[in-house]
Amino acid sequence: MRDHLWYDATQVHIGGEWRAPAGGGQIDLENPSTGEVIGSIARGTAEDIDAAVTAAQAALDGVWGHMSALERGRILTRIGQLVETRLDDLAIIEATDVGKPLTQARNDAVALARYMEFYGGAADKVHGETIPYLDGYTVYTLREPHGVTGHIVPWNYPMQIIGRSVGAALAMGNACVLKPAEEACLTALAFVALAEEAGLPPGALNVVPGLGEEAGAALTAHPGVHHISFTGSVGVGALVQAAAAKNVVQVTLELGGKSPQIVFADADLDAALPFLVGACIQNAGQTCSASSRVLIQRPVYEDLVERMGARYDAMVSAPARTDANLGPLISAKQKEIVTTYLDKGRDLRVAGMGAIAEGAPEGGHYVPATLFADVPPDHPLAQEEIFGPMQVAIPFDTEEEAIAIANGTDYGLVASVWTENGARQMRMAKAIKAGQVFINNYGAGGGVELPFGGVGKSGHGREKGFEALYGFSTLKTVAAKHG
Ligand code: NAD
Repeated sequence: MRDHLWYDATQVHIGGEWRAPAGGGQIDLENPSTGEVIGSIARGTAEDIDAAVTAAQAALDGVWGHMSALERGRILTRIGQLVETRLDDLAIIEATDVGKPLTQARNDAVALARYMEFYGGAADKVHGETIPYLDGYTVYTLREPHGVTGHIVPWNYPMQIIGRSVGAALAMGNACVLKPAEEACLTALAFVALAEEAGLPPGALNVVPGLGEEAGAALTAHPGVHHISFTGSVGVGALVQAAAAKNVVQVTLELGGKSPQIVFADADLDAALPFLVGACIQNAGQTCSASSRVLIQRPVYEDLVERMGARYDAMVSAPARTDANLGPLISAKQKEIVTTYLDKGRDLRVAGMGAIAEGAPEGGHYVPATLFADVPPDHPLAQEEIFGPMQVAIPFDTEEEAIAIANGTDYGLVASVWTENGARQMRMAKAIKAGQVFINNYGAGGGVELPFGGVGKSGHGREKGFEALYGFSTLKTVAAKHG
């Protein structure tokens, strides 16, 4: 690993330069697999955020703001190519920083490269329109960048979320200030260094690690920021929206979920089984789109619960570098939160439970993967986002009942329907309240092309795909009267 040559974890990156954070503060950097402090990261403050916003504005006023869409796209494409040359390094960095098993961490790096490739190709393909209007006028629309965009990213999928939000923002010609999560900022720092090596002008992307309530809050309240993309919890999302409202700034909120998979008795159960379990326990359940509820029609309920339970029984949580299917949780705090749900579920039927690897370091944040069965739809485990490797199975009889249970939480991020009945597939896709509905699969491989976002408390606005390019730009109508 060449991280010491490549980026400086203890500094902020502003205007193309590495600097010590203005307040001189540092935050411990912990390895979640062991609980050991392995270094420190910069504790950026409002002063650093202010410098980053100034640098971003200078980039807009300078080379970056005057660059053609074609050239922006070429730079993004080169960034993606450079990321591809460092996939293994990025995977090791992320595994160490976040506790993500190596293969999953490497997949995130692959996705980051793919976002750059996609948005690099898309940069010069967002067009305005001409609008037929009154005689003597020519009317057209221009798609323009917002200006300085703020990006607040959580710890669970840093590379993927940076790829989808910063990638789309840069493609549209915005200049970005990125505040990664305090628990996981190394790949953000590694990324900005690669981006500049690939030709991104200084100031087009600035990275300020720091605490949410300091650097994050300063970014959301800064009057020089013109758009905010926030990915994280509902509570903080609401704070971000309120802070942005004071500056009348548009916000994209990508928040939590309690996403259901609905399995009808006619489904191909063998095909469904790996998705039913895998879509929840991936990244140790710390996934916004984790499928933490499985609704199963009664004739196949017991059989499927038993088969899912057997998979849980075979699961082992182990250090990220061993590349088991399950790593530790991100922090002691997250382990405490998840463990309270084990407690809340003590009267429920446990249909399967994994183990913690023998010899896993005592200080690592491991919890056993657990499947609860026969869970009432209004139980806290069936309503609240747990963000750990815990899943509930809920039986149902009719399609109407399945829809009511599926839609019966505050969230609406992702859902899937497993059935061979084509008419039912269409009805369910319409009836379910979610930003994405999958039929006979879950996640469709996570394609960068697929617009993503929620309804209800899962948030608003869309990232990923071409749709994100509209979100990261504003529309100007030009009406010329020429007689
Ligand atoms: P979090 O809300 O605690 O933190 C997210 C980010 O917000 C971090 O960078 C943090 O430093 C920052 N932050 C914290 N307080 C802030 C404040 N007052 N002002 C501005 N920024 C602040 O969330 P988390 O625990 O890191 O992530 C888990 C949550 O994120 C889960 O609810 C999960 O569902 C959600 N999530 C959603 C998506 C999605 O795309 N919908 C993706 C990943 C995670």
